[in-house]
Amino acid sequence: MTIIRGVRILEAPCCGERYAAPNYLSMNFMAYAYWTDGWRDESLMPNDEGLRRCKCGQLFLQRDMVAVDTADSTDLQYAFHVRGDDLQTAIADSQTKAIEIAARIEYWRHLNHPYRKKYREHRALEEAKAKRIHTKPVPDTRSWWDKFIKRLPKPQQELPKLPFTHPPFNPTDEQLENMARLCFLLEEERRENPSDRYVLELAELYREQGKFDEAMAMLRRAKEGMRDVTRRVLIIMISEKSNAPTRYKI
Ligand SMILES: [Zn+2]
Repeated sequence: MTIIRGVRILEAPCCGERYAAPNYLSMNFMAYAYWTDGWRDESLMPNDEGLRRCKCGQLFLQRDMVAVDTADSTDLQYAFHVRGDDLQTAIADSQTKAIEIAARIEYWRHLNHPYRKKYREHRALEEAKAKRIHTKPVPDTRSWWDKFIKRLPKPQQELPKLPFTHPPFNPTDEQLENMARLCFLLEEERRENPSDRYVLELAELYREQGKFDEAMAMLRRAKEGMRDVTRRVLIIMISEKSNAPTRYKI
């Protein structure tokens, strides 16, 4: 369960401007559905990389704020999220690699939103079709004699499962350019600070660009137990040579 009690008061790293933030006692990252690019539908927690724009105009990351106090309530505002339409400007304004990475990850997910909409509509139609087929009553073909001797009707036949389909994913030049630059930055980050961080993001970015060999090579570096469901979904999608962002449930 996500439990919030009061607020924390934090200072922006750029100019010391004070902002409020929820004081989380516990966090729950459950969501209705998850996407391979890290987006969550109906998430109980904010779904962003912590990128904020200060009143002074500078960008900063929420994790770089300095905590100064807690309170039951405050008149201070929360630091401003960068809206999807402003992410391109934020990328141009990025003063550090960490900020550019956060802005480009958010932009990547933002540019995938129109595809998500198509995907949800397509899946809803397919699922409704499957439901219609599977709930169609079996016609009673018994003769009066069958009924007289109380012969049971034919059992419901095992119906073939409909194949799982999704709309084609054709990333625009803008999407491809952002994904390529993000891969460059994340690969560089991994070389400078070796860790497992961004392994799944890189695998997914390569996959969405149709670079399936690079995606699989990156996925092999993910340790067993690392966000297992996501990792398994990626293995299936790569082996099917599918580049589409994919929705799944945990
Ligand atoms: Zn500032």
